Amino acid sequence: MTDPAKGLWFDPSEMLIGGRWLSAPDTLALENPSTGAPLARIARGQSREIDAAVAAAHAAMDGEWGRMPAVERGRILTRLGRLVTERLDDLAVLEAQDVGKPLTQARADAVALARYCEFYGGAADKVHGQTIPYLDGYTVYTLRQPHGVTGHIVPWNYPMQIIGRSVGAALAMGNACVLKPAEEACLTALAFARLAEEAGLPPGALNVVPGLGAEAGAALASHPGIHHISFTGSVATGAKVQMAAAANVIPVTLELGGKSPQLVFDDADLDAALPFLVNAGIQNAGQTCSAASRILVHEGIHDAVIERMAERYAALRVGAAMDDLDLGPLISGRQKEIVDGFLGRADGLTVAAEGSIQAEGGHYVAPTLLTGATPDHPLAQAEIFGPVQVVIPFTDEAEGLRIANGTDYGLVAGVWTRDGGRQMRLARDLRAGQVFLNNYGAGGGVELPFGGIGKSGHGREKGFEALYGFSQLKTVAARHG
Ligand code: NAD
Repeated sequence: MTDPAKGLWFDPSEMLIGGRWLSAPDTLALENPSTGAPLARIARGQSREIDAAVAAAHAAMDGEWGRMPAVERGRILTRLGRLVTERLDDLAVLEAQDVGKPLTQARADAVALARYCEFYGGAADKVHGQTIPYLDGYTVYTLRQPHGVTGHIVPWNYPMQIIGRSVGAALAMGNACVLKPAEEACLTALAFARLAEEAGLPPGALNVVPGLGAEAGAALASHPGIHHISFTGSVATGAKVQMAAAANVIPVTLELGGKSPQLVFDDADLDAALPFLVNAGIQNAGQTCSAASRILVHEGIHDAVIERMAERYAALRVGAAMDDLDLGPLISGRQKEIVDGFLGRADGLTVAAEGSIQAEGGHYVAPTLLTGATPDHPLAQAEIFGPVQVVIPFTDEAEGLRIANGTDYGLVAGVWTRDGGRQMRLARDLRAGQVFLNNYGAGGGVELPFGGIGKSGHGREKGFEALYGFSQLKTVAARHG
């Protein structure tokens, strides 16, 4: 235990490369967003460290890891899931302090991480090739094989969940991973790597190099030694990562932002909808790619929905992560400036309700419900990435659909209606990677493929689908007469 006060049981300033925990020549400060106080110092990995990590991953592919049967990989992941479960409380404390999310939400992320390990541990030996009937005298079959060395660049908002879905699936398929966590929050990435070692993951199968995006991140994305890159983060950075990947002609999975709608029709069960309408906007202080930041309401129930959402907003409490209220702070002073900047440009909109801030010193923003927005208002188009929802009225199904599809994004959409035909039409026509009918998020199940359309990105993670993304298909044709 390096610092019991902060729940650290390891040295956070080290990187994992080729099975060795190493110091970097330089370090970066991590801050506790709930207080603004220093939390820890982490390694500032640079291109030299990324080179070493990629080389270690290649060595792992050439060695024990590359030859390990799928069933053994699965057993390691399953053991890792058990170790994560044993450390749920420790991981939750680390994440709460590092990201600023309320302890209960941080614990839910740790449970999800364990679940990803369990799911992908079970799936590792269940991805099969096919035999293909072909010409007389031939036997043709396909092999599903790992890409080789995969790069994983993750953001700060859900480190455990994103590492679980991306690194978990990549390891299950037998890739060797180089993980670059976010510079704002990377303690659970390091803790996860410690547990992976304890679970028996061979050296080099998982390498973790913290550092700045422009340094370690850019070095990883452009590295000629990686065979696939999985990026979760902003659209602007995603575009850079895709350009870097294009130069090396490698596949890329981009999980980017969103401006996701929930459509509420006048036949909806409002009692059931209400908690989802609000929670999906304020969870993790709105710093969620799939946040329901637009609430589209049929004009007939528009005022009633606003009134009922406003009641809930007025009861929302914002506080330090360890106080475990409804919302924590934003991740950084910079993120708060961005969100405050949006709120400063809410011309023409009405603040229907706000929650209350019950803490000082951190990067706190009161959850804010805005009404009176037209679909093209800047706050109804841009991803704010804070606890801000806009309510927009619509007159009929066609207009609701047009507004829902009328942004650059297409990550998630929710529909509240009792009309079965309308449910099917909207599920078909909404531009989104996931559509939820009479719910929103479905509890975040690890089994459910996830990813975007348009500027929300491309490729799918989570579920079985991710295993295809983290592998490649080879066709073997044998001519034997
Ligand atoms: P960001 O793009 O600034 O950073 C994400 C990661 O990219 C970090 O690890 C960062 O160090 C790295 N990075 C930064 N510059 C880089 C570069 N030039 N080359 C390579 N890597 C670089 O994103 P952010 O602001 O930290 O995260 C918030 C964004 O992430 C939001 O837009 C949100 O919607 C998105 N997000 C999407 C999902 C999803 O699954 N679709 C999930 C979570 C967050």
